[in-house]
Parts: sequence; C-alpha cells; structure tokens
Amino acid sequence: METTLCPKKPHFVVIPWPATSHMIPIVDIACLLAAHGAAVTVITTPASAQLVQGRVERAGGQASAGITVTAIPFPAAEAGLPDGCERLDHTPSVDLVPNFFDATEQFGEPVARHCRSLAATRRPSCIVAGMCNTWAHGLARELGAPCFIFHGFCAFSLLCCEYLNTHKPHEAVASPDELFDVPVLPHFGFKFARRQLPLQFLPSCSIPEVRLRELREFEMAVDGIVVNSFEELEHGSAARLAAATGGKAVFAVGPVSLCGAPGLVDSRADSDDARRCMAWLDAKEARSVLYVSFGSAGRMPPEQLMQLGLALVSCPWPVLWVIKGAGSLPDDVNEWLQENTDADGLQESQCLAVRGWAPQVPILEHPAVGGFLTHCGWGSTLESVVAGVPMATWPFTAEQFLNEKLIVDVLRIGVSVGVTKPTEGVLTGKNGGGRPKADVGMEQVKKALDMLMDGGVDGEARRTRADELKAKAKAALENGGSSYMNLEKLIQFAG
Ligand code: UDP
Repeated sequence: METTLCPKKPHFVVIPWPATSHMIPIVDIACLLAAHGAAVTVITTPASAQLVQGRVERAGGQASAGITVTAIPFPAAEAGLPDGCERLDHTPSVDLVPNFFDATEQFGEPVARHCRSLAATRRPSCIVAGMCNTWAHGLARELGAPCFIFHGFCAFSLLCCEYLNTHKPHEAVASPDELFDVPVLPHFGFKFARRQLPLQFLPSCSIPEVRLRELREFEMAVDGIVVNSFEELEHGSAARLAAATGGKAVFAVGPVSLCGAPGLVDSRADSDDARRCMAWLDAKEARSVLYVSFGSAGRMPPEQLMQLGLALVSCPWPVLWVIKGAGSLPDDVNEWLQENTDADGLQESQCLAVRGWAPQVPILEHPAVGGFLTHCGWGSTLESVVAGVPMATWPFTAEQFLNEKLIVDVLRIGVSVGVTKPTEGVLTGKNGGGRPKADVGMEQVKKALDMLMDGGVDGEARRTRADELKAKAKAALENGGSSYMNLEKLIQFAG
C-alpha cells in the first residue's frame, strides 16, 4: 500500500477494548498509522495476540514492519471470569459482564507499567484507546502524551449520542416506545424511541452504573476521537461532533478494512468453511446473492430465527446466511435448518447456511453478492459501503438503530425492514428464558428483501448510489484523500 515517511517518527500506543468486532478496526487503524510512517505498539492479551498479529501481517510492507504487538496477561481469573475469557464476546453469560468490566479496569495497571518501561527507550507520543479502557487518559497524562478514544461508532452516531448526553430527550418520554426528535443534521427529522438507543441510555443495562459514569468521564476528558469512517459518508457529522464536544479533534481515518491486501482476511477466515463459501459464490451470477449476517455475536431468539428462515428459503435468489449460536438453538429449529438449508454445499436448497465465522469482507466484495441483510453494526455497514453493496437493515442493539438512519435516510443505500424493538443479546440482559413470540414476521422480512434485490428503478438508483460511495471510500484513503489527510493530521497532533 502507498505510504508516507514522516520526518519525525511519533510512537503511538494503541490499546484495543477487547471485543472482537472492536479489535478488528482499531488494529487496522494501527496498521494505517504505521503505513504513514509512525511507530506503533499494539497492546493486547495472550488470547487475542494471534488475531492482532494476523491482521498486522495482512497489512504487509511498512505497516507490518512498523508495529510491535505486545501481549500482557488479562486478569480474567482475578475478576472471576473463566480462564482464557479475554474478549467480551467470549463471556459465557450476561451475569459476568460486570466482571469483564472489572477485569478491564484491573488490566490498566500492568499496561501502565509496560508503557512506563517503554518510555525509557521510546516514549509514547500518543495513546489511542478503546472506549472502555477508561484508565488510558490518566496514563496518557502521566506520560505527557495526548489521548484519543476509539468507540467503533461512526461520527453520525457519536453525534447523536452527544446530543442525547447533552439534551436528554429520552428522559422526558413517558414510555420506551414514545418517539422523540434527535435534530443533529439539517434537513433530516430523525426520531427514535428510548428502547432503540445505545445501552448507556437505557434505564437498565448489564454495564454497572459506576462503569457507565467512568466511560462518559473518559470520553469527555480525551483530546480527540478517531473514527472508522470517511468524511464524504458522514454529511458533516465529524465537524459537528468536533463542535458539539467543545472542539475536540475528530479524525475520520477509514474505511480501515481497505488497509490490507484483498482476499481472506484473518486466520479464522482461512478455513474449509470459508473456502466453501467462496466456491459457492463463484458459481453464482453477478449481484444475484443475498448475504445475511448479524455481526460477530448477533443471535436471534428461536421463533424470530424461524420467521427469518422462512423468509429466506422462500426467496427467489440464492442466500448465504451466517448463523451465530447455532449450538444453543432448540432441536426442532436445528432440524428445520438441516432440512431447509444447505449445510454442506451439496443439497438443492438455494440457501447456504454457515454456522460460525464467515469471511465477511471477501464475501461482500465478491461480484455475486447483490444485497446484504445486516444488523447495522458499524463494521459491517462500512464493509458493505466499501463493496458497493446495498443493505436491508435489521438493527439489533447498541448504536445500530442510529446507524440505520444514516444508511436508509441520509445515504439512501438501504431498505429498512421496519424493526422497532431491539433483539435481545448478551449485553441487554435477557438471554434465553423461554421462547418469546417473533416481533418481525416472515412477510415483513420478505417485503424489505424484495425491495432490496429489486431490479427496478428504485433498486437501480440505490445500487448507483452505493457504487458512488464505493468509489469515494477508496479515494478517501488514497494520497490526498480525506482519510489520508486525517491520518497525517493525527500523526502531526502526536508529533
Ligand atoms: N465478521 C466476520 N465474520 C463473521 C461475523 C463478523 O468477518 O462471521 C466481522 C465483520 O466483517 C465485521 C465485524 O466482524 O468486521 C463485525 O462488526 P460489526 O461492527 O458489524 O458488528 P458487531 O459484531 O460489533 O455487532
């Protein structure tokens, strides 16, 4: 990849928040900084070292050579977590989420010791920390370095959160379904219900109150915000966020998934399953396949999964459906999946079900993929933008309902399924517990998918807009592009 050599070589210490979908983009940011000539130390834990190292190696060239990966033991056992539980998505139950936050807090001390020892030879000139590593700000001050936060959110969603934190419209509503305005961009009337907001704005969530306070104090204290996005995608949200946060530096430096060589992206994606997905796609016509996936951990309750499944197997197009947590589905649902989907690429069904980790970036970039049914996680959203693939939106939780507005209303590259309630997941505190009725019926899903995959005027216009954004995404990271220049500014800020 193209690189720049800085006259002075600042040293970035990048400390990911240990959750898989958070680590992927922040390590890619480390690779981009190194490709721009900075020295970078990425601090991780032993169980994640391979994931981090794999992404660093994938970046190649100066990016790989400029990065040191350091694994520091994670105090899982000390915080009451099972041995080896070093990422949030490895936490076996929602009851252990507070323990995970305790472990994250305790992790701050050994990281600080390591950074002090680094200071003797190669003083850190800037810390970029995941949003739950709240101790990073104190450490940066001690080392005399600026501190940047990385949330994993886009600038638009961060702007909405800043508005919610400042104006608190969600606290004035009578019910979790009552809609209120979030007027963050001119000419758009965004409305949300409280239940659609990120966890910190919900009346109860599995993250303890004291931790939520620390998170807010951390984001208010930092010098700046690094965003995996590009300015052309955000309709001025980055500049508005800078203003709304009292003039913090806001640098959109993405889309970071473009930072490595194309092809299979990490060691987990280099598997028989991954190769089977790609071979299956190779046999399909251009833009004919619907890809369905809900992020690194998105699971649906069984009845909801069945409604989705009924919609997918009745689609006229081939479907590639990634299912997480299949091991804990009831027997009857598993049997249905076995009978109605193609589990091994050998049956007649047009619906290939993949249980486990799919190579999402290469899938989205495959010419056969014509649409993506997504939970609107920001990583997935941006990967779809980069690939020029229009989306059908089914937000689950976190900031995904906010992202949906950007995809559907602002960028007009998506069709909303019309989901109004969050799908319960590990952080929202209602795992399992019987078989609740599905909120979204198969007909509702089919309607959105028909619109998404439609070859008519609206579908064509959506595809054209998606193609235009794909070109802008690539240009943003090229020499002189907006993200390229923001990386240079970030390096100057540190130097
Ligand atoms: N991902 C993947 N294969 C999978 C599931 C997820 O490669 O089977 C990657 C995906 O490409 C993205 C990340 O995991 O980079 C998911 O991030 P996102 O922000 O979309 O969702 P989250 O997992 O945080 O809900």
